[in-house]
Amino acid sequence: MGALLDGKAVAASIQQAVAADVEALRRGRGVTPTLAVVLSGEDPGSKVYVRRKRQAARGLGIQTRDHVFPNGLSERETLTLVHELNEDKEVHGILVQLPLPKGVNESRVLDAIDPVKDVGGFHPENLGRLMLGNATVVPCTPAGVLAILDHYKIELAGRIAVVVGRSRIVGKPVAQLLLGRHATVIMAHSRTPNLASITRLADVLVVAIGHPRLIGARHVKSGAVVIDVGINRLPDGTLTGDVDFLDAAGVSAAITPVPGGVGPTTVAMLMRNTVRACRQQIGD
Ligand code: NAD
Repeated sequence: MGALLDGKAVAASIQQAVAADVEALRRGRGVTPTLAVVLSGEDPGSKVYVRRKRQAARGLGIQTRDHVFPNGLSERETLTLVHELNEDKEVHGILVQLPLPKGVNESRVLDAIDPVKDVGGFHPENLGRLMLGNATVVPCTPAGVLAILDHYKIELAGRIAVVVGRSRIVGKPVAQLLLGRHATVIMAHSRTPNLASITRLADVLVVAIGHPRLIGARHVKSGAVVIDVGINRLPDGTLTGDVDFLDAAGVSAAITPVPGGVGPTTVAMLMRNTVRACRQQIGD
């Protein structure tokens, strides 16, 4: 049975450092890092995530400004709000929770966020810097994945990492980070034939697909490390990952659970990004 990679413990140690940073900014500069959160529409998952982010922020002394629109904003209204938040000197970070309602072009909205306030790390300028290996902000979930690997001292240089999923928010940036750590990175996705033959090459397997329990023991090389990014809600209300945990744990050396794996580290990284954005904006 693979060892458990405890995302909550990793998140707690990141948050401890963030809380100390927030306190130093308050005492030294009289500034409270402030995160604006935009929630447009009624996505049930988003409501839960936003609540967790708000709670985490408050627990660390980070101020949040909520912009909640249960009926959803149009693209033009969302862009207007983003422009207002870009101009607001008291707001250091802007998080637009995805998915946005149908008919709103997410790329256009993410591209409108001032790159220095882009605590999600999805602006083309920030993704470009990440690709060049000189990121100033790293997307939260991929940063959380690396934090878990680092916390448990999992060697990456020279090892084969397979990333399943190629999204802007998880797959692509996580692959860049692994490449930056000198892993040999293979990306698999919905058009990859014979997925198991590819994933079984992995020393480190990162899964971000969005299909409950798609990856099982037959996809995992004996002794591999498995990071499950997926968060799926089953019809009975329980949360599960993209990996069949019990099945894959039988062959892996170490594995993240869902919940309690990548999710908590994502929230911790959002907090860290907010404090870093604040420091950058006040010239600290
Ligand atoms: P997405 O839908 O944007 O992308 C999914 C990717 O999976 C695509 O690139 C697609 O090519 C690939 N894919 C789909 N079906 C496949 C298949 N059968 N075989 C191989 N590849 C396949 O999703 P996303 O935004 O990257 O999210 C992925 C998962 O991670 C979701 O479950 C989401 O809820 C979760 N997530 C978790 C966190 C967190 O904090 N833990 C953050 C973001 C996303």
